[in-house]
Amino acid sequence: MTTIRREQLAIVEDCRGDDCKPRVGVYALTSCYGCQLKLATVERILDIVKAVNIESFYMLSSNSTIPADVDVAFVEGSVSTEKDLEELFEVRKHSRILVALGACAVNGGVQSWVEGEMDYDQLYADVYGDETIDMQGRQATPISAHVDVDYYLPGCPPEEDEIMYFISSFLFGTFPEPKDYPVCAECRLAGNPCILIEHGERCLGPVTTAGCKARCISFGVPCIGCRGPVPHDTAWFDSLALTFQQKGLDEEVVRDRMRIFGAHNPHLEKMLNKVYGSENE
Ligand code: SF4
Ligand code: SF4
Ligand code: SF4
Repeated sequence: MTTIRREQLAIVEDCRGDDCKPRVGVYALTSCYGCQLKLATVERILDIVKAVNIESFYMLSSNSTIPADVDVAFVEGSVSTEKDLEELFEVRKHSRILVALGACAVNGGVQSWVEGEMDYDQLYADVYGDETIDMQGRQATPISAHVDVDYYLPGCPPEEDEIMYFISSFLFGTFPEPKDYPVCAECRLAGNPCILIEHGERCLGPVTTAGCKARCISFGVPCIGCRGPVPHDTAWFDSLALTFQQKGLDEEVVRDRMRIFGAHNPHLEKMLNKVYGSENE
């Protein structure tokens, strides 16, 4: 593998010596740890480990600390406890670039599904009743609600290709571009029949950001929007609204499904308004 000198990296400053490497930290807030697991098991993880200095990544090394001074921090999970919030502030302070890793960090994830429908006290009572728990919980929120986030790597969990793209971009001194086209584009490239058009399945591919290569549809399962809404000015919303209406996919169905992973996504209501609102009447 080519040795990448730290001086070559736009993200690394003040480096002396040929063997300088970007320092990377991987941290977990409240989550299922699936995103970290995905990162730890990418096929080329050994190449990545050689190209960077892993300063903190408990899934790979017990010799980790929170926080460490790093060039790039990947943060998984939502802020669901006071301890999460304290850790996140510390990670931000010690990181030059912060990446939200996965749907929980990007949009709050499934644990923030009840946002706007149930407050924390109601939620606590529903789950724990009169029991007390050994942590200070709070309503789950995405990390961008508390700190500046430089890049968003969506998915539940993110795809291997995209993880490699992000890490490669940082290594080569460029920066990852977000995708601005829908899952449908990748679905058609994959040669799938359209299960929305042909079978009336409630597939949210047309309004969901691409990047998963239409993973679910390729297994015959409709997309439920885990990667979040596609920017509303880049898809064919007029014909889309008509198709959704013809197939009985009304606004509430789309909203309910997309809230599963992205109740906090600021683009969701804008996108719904574009598809179902006055602009299409
Ligand atoms: S985004 Fe999905 S895989 Fe990642 S931590 Fe959250 S629930 Fe787990
Ligand atoms: S609506 Fe669903 S099945 Fe049809 S092309 Fe889009 S992603 Fe594929
Ligand atoms: S098809 Fe939809 S639900 Fe499935 S992984 Fe892709 S974005 Fe997520």
